[in-house]
Amino acid sequence: MINVSDLLKILEKIPLWKQLKELPAKIEDFERRLSALEKNLETDDSVKKCPKCGSKYFVLTDTKPNLHLGIVGVQDRQYTCEKCSYSEVESG
Ligand SMILES: [Zn+2]
Repeated sequence: MINVSDLLKILEKIPLWKQLKELPAKIEDFERRLSALEKNLETDDSVKKCPKCGSKYFVLTDTKPNLHLGIVGVQDRQYTCEKCSYSEVESG
């Protein structure tokens, strides 16, 4: 009959087991780093805000030449809010 110690020795030989064992520490590290980034985002006034909900998760999602003025270099930039899904296009 196999005991727990033998079972652990067998598991140690499986690469996926090693990765699984490291996962809680990695998740904790990612959560700590994400939290620090979110704090920086909240205090950074240069970040574009969603005009509808005020979220700072208003990100550039598409860029293409403007239908009429693209020939002279004008581009349409679409921004989309990751919180409320509002989007708008800026030309410039
Ligand atoms: Zn929004």
